[in-house]
Amino acid sequence: MKFPAFSYAVPATVAEALELLAADEDARPLAGGQTLLPILALRMASPGCLVDLSPLSELKNIVFEDQTLKIGAMVTFAQLARATAHQANFPLIYLALKHVAHVAIRNRGTIGGSLAYADAAAEMPVVVCALNAIMVIAGVGGARRVAAADFFTGHFSTAIERRELLTQIEFPISDHTWAFEEVSRRPGDFALVMAATGLRMRDGQCAEARIALGCVADRPLRAPAAEAFLSGKQITEETAAEAGQIATSDLKSHADIHASAEYRRKVGSTLIKRALLRAAVEPRL
Ligand SMILES: Cc1cc2nc3c(=O)[nH]c(=O)nc-3n(C[C@H](O)[C@H](O)[C@H](O)COP(=O)(O)OP(=O)(O)OC[C@H]3O[C@@H](n4cnc5c(N)ncnc54)[C@H](O)[C@@H]3O)c2cc1C
Repeated sequence: MKFPAFSYAVPATVAEALELLAADEDARPLAGGQTLLPILALRMASPGCLVDLSPLSELKNIVFEDQTLKIGAMVTFAQLARATAHQANFPLIYLALKHVAHVAIRNRGTIGGSLAYADAAAEMPVVVCALNAIMVIAGVGGARRVAAADFFTGHFSTAIERRELLTQIEFPISDHTWAFEEVSRRPGDFALVMAATGLRMRDGQCAEARIALGCVADRPLRAPAAEAFLSGKQITEETAAEAGQIATSDLKSHADIHASAEYRRKVGSTLIKRALLRAAVEPRL
């Protein structure tokens, strides 16, 4: 199908992009276009104007300062994968990136576009939840910072208001060891279920665990009861399996044409166990 008619604006700065969005209720930001353009072609959306963010170099920086990795919203998956200097400090981002789509999509798709779109089957939402990232959201009146835990508000919806832009994602450094597990039908396909786990170990016992699940609900989920259960315990086959059970037993998972709710619960539990055992043997930084 052909795109619906729309006008096309190319701002030179973020401030100009925000003014364009504020001035036209029907305007929408265009990032890598890997989701938005297929949606337009399928006539599932018909914005009056697309505000192209691709010239905005302000949104394409990757900077490490104040023990925080700051990634501009228009950084593509491919650009992020090439920024290997950060791989040692932020391994989870790189473990998850390997599962994101295919080369052509990674070349244009952006981390900001992925987070703003908030597909429950996308990897980056799970990563930002596990890493306690902060989303920087700008509007004409200034910027605000939203924790990952408060950013995702439901199916394809986030804390970004219509006239706002996600401009940067901030990842505080952590000394956890990390693992990421995913099941999809084929490499590069959207996930059916995924789990990210982080462990901070002291004297052979878990001092802090982080567990995040994706594709089991309308938004990425942390598993606080399972995280608390692991505190002070060794990570063994038994404790890892128990944590997986605790994380998924009360889960009201969703079913769709790809997988049943029961499948997502069972596989989610298994992926958590596997990721915990893997994180437990990762070398510390
Ligand atoms: C065949 C296929 C397979 C894929 N597989 C995967 C996969 O396995 N894992 C995965 O994670 N993704 C996958 N994707 C999606 C891909 O990663 C997209 O690139 C991503 O979802 C959207 O990023 P984008 O930069 O292309 O955003 P766009 O398509 O340009 O925009 C997406 C939405 O976000 C809004 N938006 C974009 N940037 C901003 C911003 N800075 N502030 C506010 N709103 C903004 C847009 O208005 C639009 O509504 C796949 C896509 C395709 C076509």
